[in-house]
Amino acid sequence: MTDIQHHAPDDLLMGYATGALPQAFDLVVATHVSLSDDARARVEAFEAVGGAVLEDLDKVDVADDSLEQTLAKIGAPGPAAAPVISDGTFPTPLRNAVGGDEDAVRWRYVGRGVKQCVLHSDEHGTARLLRIPAGRSMPEHSHNGTEMTLVLKGAFRDEDGVFARGDLEVADAQVNHTPIAEPGEDCICLVATDARLKFQGLLPRIAQPFLGI
Ligand code: ZN
Repeated sequence: MTDIQHHAPDDLLMGYATGALPQAFDLVVATHVSLSDDARARVEAFEAVGGAVLEDLDKVDVADDSLEQTLAKIGAPGPAAAPVISDGTFPTPLRNAVGGDEDAVRWRYVGRGVKQCVLHSDEHGTARLLRIPAGRSMPEHSHNGTEMTLVLKGAFRDEDGVFARGDLEVADAQVNHTPIAEPGEDCICLVATDARLKFQGLLPRIAQPFLGI
């Protein structure tokens, strides 16, 4: 997994390590971390720093199981288990969210041959799988909020370069792009957004309420 070209920025990994990310983004980063040795090492470093801070606090006068007690009180999960990479297309965190691998996804067409499956949606964000036919382009768009795209299969190209399995693209209002699936293989991505996209073209804008993107 050493050929990943586009990594998650440190502030995002720190947010993930501290459990601060909304669920949709947490799923994308957990899946990226499963595919990237580099991202996993950095998350472990952030967790170690967090652990050291807690240890210092422990020296005051708290019980040995204070961390567990605190976590139980705030309803947070305990320290995350090491990610396990499955043999299929989807690493374990995504496989758990889908309830299986690629063949378990319940795809729905959203136009132009593109299929999607919404995995999670709440007021903080939406996580969806997208399947873009080989060689097909997505409509040119910008973003009202943050969009994180993780490639699981195939590859796409946009103004920022080529993104292949394990690569993560973080785009916001400053980014205007037209992702195009590379030829040869359909591109499957896991995408989290916290606001609707801003489409430049008239037809995508008209279609947007029906697509829900
Ligand atoms: Zn975008």
